[in-house]
Amino acid sequence: MEDSEGRRCDLCGRVIPAERLQALPETKRCVECARKKGSDISGKRAEVGMDLDTYKDLLGAMRS
Ligand SMILES: [Zn+2]
Repeated sequence: MEDSEGRRCDLCGRVIPAERLQALPETKRCVECARKKGSDISGKRAEVGMDLDTYKDLLGAMRS
């Protein structure tokens, strides 16, 4: 299976460490990209209760 090594980062394409996926099962970013670009989910997604793409759009809107 191609997925055996885990999920890859949306931004840089590196494999996201299994520990990170356990902590943040829905993350699409590696730790480095999350630091540079901002965490894609952390705990906030659950708080705001919206889907990831909506949340990203909101983050982008708040930054611009
Ligand atoms: Zn990355």
